[in-house]
Amino acid sequence: MTIYNFSAGPAVLPGPVLKKAQEELLDYQGSGMSVMELSHRSSLFEDIITEAENLLRKLMDIPENYHVLFLQGGASLQFSSVPLNLAQNKKALYVNTGSWAKKAIAAAQAIPSVNTKVIASSEDKNFTYIPQITKDQIDQDASYLHITTNETIGGISYQEIPDTGRVPLVADMSSNILSNNYQVKDFGIIYAGAQKNIGPAGLTVVIIRDDLLNEQSLFAPMLDYRVQADSHSMYNTPPTFSIYMAKLVFEWLQDLGGVSQMVKYNQQKSGLLYDAIDRSNLFQSPVNKKDRSLTNIPFLTASDQLNQEFINAAQRQGFENLKGHRSVGGMRASLYNAFPLTGVKRLVDFMEEFEKAHG
Ligand code: PMP
Repeated sequence: MTIYNFSAGPAVLPGPVLKKAQEELLDYQGSGMSVMELSHRSSLFEDIITEAENLLRKLMDIPENYHVLFLQGGASLQFSSVPLNLAQNKKALYVNTGSWAKKAIAAAQAIPSVNTKVIASSEDKNFTYIPQITKDQIDQDASYLHITTNETIGGISYQEIPDTGRVPLVADMSSNILSNNYQVKDFGIIYAGAQKNIGPAGLTVVIIRDDLLNEQSLFAPMLDYRVQADSHSMYNTPPTFSIYMAKLVFEWLQDLGGVSQMVKYNQQKSGLLYDAIDRSNLFQSPVNKKDRSLTNIPFLTASDQLNQEFINAAQRQGFENLKGHRSVGGMRASLYNAFPLTGVKRLVDFMEEFEKAHG
């Protein structure tokens, strides 16, 4: 039975990437060693990390004045690193769009020297939309405005990036990096955990404009963007195997035509599923249409019991990880770049069969 993995992360990886990693696993380029066993200071690994960075720069069209950092600690550590590096004794602005934005806000609020302010929220409608942000809401003295470009649990995403004027825009792009048409130059910092659209868990990508590197040293060098940038992500041992896997994913993406092709592919995949939900009398989408995510698609029936029946029946057909996040219930299909169109077609057929049997 073919397994379709709808997990929100760690998520499905491209088949050809796993195959290549398997081929190279025991003997990487004649070294007689696995990538996992290479010194991070070896020239073979230096080539891997340099190539990973170059490929990401090309894929995302990252301007010269931005650093690319390969760090650890997940997107969650960035929730603290961002305010610690940028906002001590200053104001930090946030938009509250759901579970992940809330965590970023809480991490900033936990730092006594940071003046954290939430300037917009969609909590009034249970985070089913992206609030409009206008320039006059943005205090031009603030150190940054933080947004979550795609709420992985709620299934909403920014279709357009707000204009923040002089204030740097910081984005948690964990669940739609490399799946959107955003321009890096519109952001001061972009960060993302790798385990959705980049590779295995353990790696966090940070893209930071060089004027945002802090001047004063932070108390913790591992959290200090300048230290990490100056040491080319080698201040300590980086997550070598995850970086290698990310490089393979970037090569795969490039071979398929890059991010613009992926956006089209993801529009096709998510379009099929949204159309099926909209046609259905059984399933519905809780999300405002214009803010619907391309990568994380929540849907539900009228009852928790029927949701569970659907999830169980789907699993028996090889559709794995369709259960919605425990905080919201229902179902969620995560359709990252590596998720195949055939899997969406199969799911839509299955939803129709289920509806016939239960409608
Ligand atoms: N932000 C978003 C949007 C996420 O989806 C996640 C993980 N699901 C996180 C942050 C936390 O990431 P990590 O587990 O890498 O710390």
